[in-house]
Amino acid sequence: MQEKVHVSLGERSYDVIIGPGLMARAGELISPLLPRPRVVVVSDETVAALHLETLRAGLASSGIAMEAMTLPAGEATKSWESLTRTCDWLLDQKVERRDIVVALGGGVIGDLVGFAAAVLRRGVRFVQIPTSLLAQVDSSVGGKTGINVRQGKNLIGAFHQPALVLADTDVLATLAERDFLAGYGEVVKYGLLGDAAFFDWLDENGPALKSGDMAARITAVTKSVQMKADIVARDETEQGDRALLNLGHTFCHALEAATGYSNRLLHGEGVAIGCALAFELSARLGLCSQEEPSRVREHLKRMGMKTDLSDIPGDLPDSDALIELMAQDKKVLDGKLRFILARGIGQAFVTSDVPRDALGDVLQAALKEKARQS
Ligand code: NAD
Repeated sequence: MQEKVHVSLGERSYDVIIGPGLMARAGELISPLLPRPRVVVVSDETVAALHLETLRAGLASSGIAMEAMTLPAGEATKSWESLTRTCDWLLDQKVERRDIVVALGGGVIGDLVGFAAAVLRRGVRFVQIPTSLLAQVDSSVGGKTGINVRQGKNLIGAFHQPALVLADTDVLATLAERDFLAGYGEVVKYGLLGDAAFFDWLDENGPALKSGDMAARITAVTKSVQMKADIVARDETEQGDRALLNLGHTFCHALEAATGYSNRLLHGEGVAIGCALAFELSARLGLCSQEEPSRVREHLKRMGMKTDLSDIPGDLPDSDALIELMAQDKKVLDGKLRFILARGIGQAFVTSDVPRDALGDVLQAALKEKARQS
């Protein structure tokens, strides 16, 4: 069982290979890219403890040597400090222009190492081996790389496409359930933004996916990657359509900022809540029926996911403060908030035309419900 999605970007095109057992075959899959039988790998401590030796063995079986460095797990690793450490280490390893740097880990490692590869010697090639569901379905594909700074998330970065992505679906088995479900927030986003039939499929197969059904996992990852690849091929640097991938993200970024980018709310959890709010706002503006946000919520709840503001522990700021946080999002254009709204499940579109009152009403209603439940 193996699937392949081609990301079509002219001379920057690459394949995303999806299936079980890919790390054990990493040597065979990566060797066509290598000028010499050696790779350098950057990972995080949690992922390295679980999977680095499988990768080492998979490379060794094709005679490829591997050097590795590990960084602490967690969002704080997407920093200037880690970037400096990574670049220093890569230079010490004498990585040359044609060599391959491998990012083994979740979205944090993928974003950081991709950015290091983008700036090292003005750009070296890199391979993504995404190990979290979020990284397999989203962050490893599309070439957005970067780090967080004091002023906000992902504010320093570059577009730098990988040369190959190996999404080994076996490694998802070691993910904590909370991290798995956070990644699922991005999977469901694809159905909601552009494919009602995929949403229906998830509604039926989501529980099997969660409990480890390999065929269902491969289908979900492949479908998600295919949708992302199609959008990225149309709009690599987000001049238009690519913004659709931000469904739920304007709300999510405000909620992440309000919770201090802490364990109170993971990114994918914020995306799921943000999608529910985006549908709520769409219904309030008369773009879709009230049944649509209810269907979104029911599905998320059935999967055991965070769905409402009331699922976020602790206090949240009032609606005006949340809107203020939204306005600081880097996706603001000419001072106008950009939203992804929907005319129904699978029918999202980008707009800057959202009355502040309607947005305030939706947030106030959600905050009131949170207060009622606490
Ligand atoms: P992460 O990399 O922090 O991984 C989440 C946790 O899971 C970490 O503790 C990690 O050690 C652990 N983990 C990863 N794989 C594992 C495995 N197989 N088994 C056990 N534990 C494992 O976070 P994430 O959720 O993967 O990614 C979030 C990051 O991705 C954010 O920084 C976000 O900004 C970024 N992102 C980037 C893009 C993009 O297009 N570049 C898109 C979406 C999100």
